[in-house]
Amino acid sequence: MRILKYCFLSVIFISTSLFAQEPTSTKPQGHTDQNKFRQMKDLLATPNETRTASGAPGYKYTQQQVDYVMDIRLDENTSQIFGDEKITYHNNSKDHLQYLWIQLDQNMRAKDSKTPDVKEESFKTPFNSAQSFTKNNLQERFDGGFNIEHVKNDNGSDLSYTINQTMMRINLAKPLAPGDTFKFEIKWWYNVNNHVTQGGRSGYEAFPDGNNTYVIAQFFPRLCVYNNVEGWQNMQFWGRSEFALEFGNYDVKLTVPADHKMEATGELQNPKDVLTKEQIKRFELAKKSFKDPVFIVTQEEAEAAEKQRSTKLKTWHFKADKVRDFAFATSRKFLWDAMAVDINGRSVMAISLYSKEGNPLWEEHSTRVVANTLEEYSKLTFDYPYSKAVSVHAEMGMEYPMICFNYGRPNEDGTYSERLKRGMIGVITHEVGHNFFPMIVNSDERQWTWMDEGLNSFVETLAELDYDPNYITGNLPKDIVPYMGGDQSNISPIMSQGDYVHQFGPNAYTKPAAGLYMLRQTIMGPELFDYAFRTYSQRWMFKHPTPADFFRSMEDASAMDLDWFWRGWFYTTDYTDIGVKDVKQYYLTDKPTESAKERAKRFKMDLADYPGRFIYYAEAVNGVIPQDAKSASDFAELNTYLESLSPEEKAKLKEAPKHFYEVTFEKPGGLVMPIILEITYEDGTIERKKYPAEIWRYNEFEVKKVFKTNKAITSFVIDPDLETADVDTSNNAWPKDDATAFSKFKEKVKG
Ligand SMILES: [Zn+2]
Repeated sequence: MRILKYCFLSVIFISTSLFAQEPTSTKPQGHTDQNKFRQMKDLLATPNETRTASGAPGYKYTQQQVDYVMDIRLDENTSQIFGDEKITYHNNSKDHLQYLWIQLDQNMRAKDSKTPDVKEESFKTPFNSAQSFTKNNLQERFDGGFNIEHVKNDNGSDLSYTINQTMMRINLAKPLAPGDTFKFEIKWWYNVNNHVTQGGRSGYEAFPDGNNTYVIAQFFPRLCVYNNVEGWQNMQFWGRSEFALEFGNYDVKLTVPADHKMEATGELQNPKDVLTKEQIKRFELAKKSFKDPVFIVTQEEAEAAEKQRSTKLKTWHFKADKVRDFAFATSRKFLWDAMAVDINGRSVMAISLYSKEGNPLWEEHSTRVVANTLEEYSKLTFDYPYSKAVSVHAEMGMEYPMICFNYGRPNEDGTYSERLKRGMIGVITHEVGHNFFPMIVNSDERQWTWMDEGLNSFVETLAELDYDPNYITGNLPKDIVPYMGGDQSNISPIMSQGDYVHQFGPNAYTKPAAGLYMLRQTIMGPELFDYAFRTYSQRWMFKHPTPADFFRSMEDASAMDLDWFWRGWFYTTDYTDIGVKDVKQYYLTDKPTESAKERAKRFKMDLADYPGRFIYYAEAVNGVIPQDAKSASDFAELNTYLESLSPEEKAKLKEAPKHFYEVTFEKPGGLVMPIILEITYEDGTIERKKYPAEIWRYNEFEVKKVFKTNKAITSFVIDPDLETADVDTSNNAWPKDDATAFSKFKEKVKG
């Protein structure tokens, strides 16, 4: 799903006083090791033969399989949907199953649903709109729950079942043994909701021309995941945290009005029954068109179709293997275009289905963005294994295997803003990208939103920057600063269940995405990161990974200890704040009380030319030598050493440093992070240094470094490119009153 990012735009600048705090955490007494680099043994499940310590599936790894054969009928007049569903459940686990749990997602819209009950209500005045007042106060609740007509086993006898809100337990007469299969059948129907007026990830949109477009998902009772991590994943569906589903094979027949155009998960089995000869011909052309989309149904044809209404029906037959779900879109209003994408020598179809209301935006961008997404994601993960990816125009953003629903509607006169276009490119990239996470790398969305949304938003960011290098992704480290530096009582760690967190979007989308971006660009580097990320993706293709499998794979494939990063970024709400606390300048002199003018002269000399002996190390703070400049204890030794040098060796001293800076870095923020330092010299040259996060391993509040140079240093700036999500940049530059360095820095913060 795609969350609108409006929540970020309101606060760009943060009051610096908020963060001008001294380190508050103190080292705990006793024996608890609170070091930020301690390993995650206390947080991750012990590895075993199903999930190994390397992060890969173990030799005893199993997962269940569920196959569906369905006959579905959509009644356009009543907007009701009817299903005959035959399920084959394969128990590949080593456990005896006493019952099976089934998800009845539509029950979230049942008349007695508890979803509205747990929502806080207030009587807002003035009302947003007459429509919302009517809906909330005058209308009866819409009844969109499942009507279960029967649940039978394959010999036709009724099965006992119990429904608890959005979950149904099938009570088995005898436990299902390991390796056995269980066949049963559910007959059901429900009233389809209008997803525009009533909300939802599925439903229809009604247009003034009297036609509907249907984007239908979560429309059939689906098996819950059973595994060795959660047992049955039967946490209720409240409408937010998404789904956990098993892989299986689907054979689905969908009966709709004869003049509808349809796309669905899987390969169409009977094109000759449902497509015209002309449409089949155009599809063949599209299969050879790698540059531009080819129309299967043009706007002219779609507009002609929406003026009529067939009373006949047609049945579309789709089959899909190794998918975790099934969704479809159908309407007589749809335009249809397609092009081919070359994925490592194999052709995959990029397809779009949209009403004329989406144009001209949709015919210009949708299918091209689908193609770009498949190419980019394949580079970073694995070759896209399915035959197609479809983008359907609906005013939402939601994903299913091979098909997704996306927003982006121009004004009535066809004009649109850059912002709308960007939003549309973003949502299509995002939803098509979900084919990889979680449709193929099949994590548990109900429990860990970040595993699909975060990983997907991260790869989305790289894909968007590839489609348009100036694209404002909103997923970069600097974009998460307002959230991470905000009110801590409204923030939860990423490792939280999605139904229970405030600020869901930043928590489960932006923060993990920005963290992975930081890991790739700043901490690991693209080479190590990409190999490890691809390793994780390929290990868990068509399987069910957990967070530990991800964390472990990233370390196992890169030889980087990242426990400090996972622990800080994923398990806490700590933020980054690193600053320059103090800079002390030292130089060599035999006259500690000399004037600034004399000292300046001395800096022009080479060390080898010093007339006298090195007697004092003096310290200059902001150009002033303190009265108590100390004598260095080992200067006698240094002089003896220098005197022993040969003339050649002495000549080399010409290059020896004569400016010495001792910089104290402070870390008021709770996170440990690398120190990225930009050093500017008196001649205008700039140097970058990067110190690994481990620089904080012995003292997480303060650390010192000495810089030795031939040229005077005029400024130090920490994190000049805003790579680490530092929440308070007012302490990032030295000297603080250096107008040039600091204003340059501020400009970057704004950008
Ligand atoms: Zn999403």
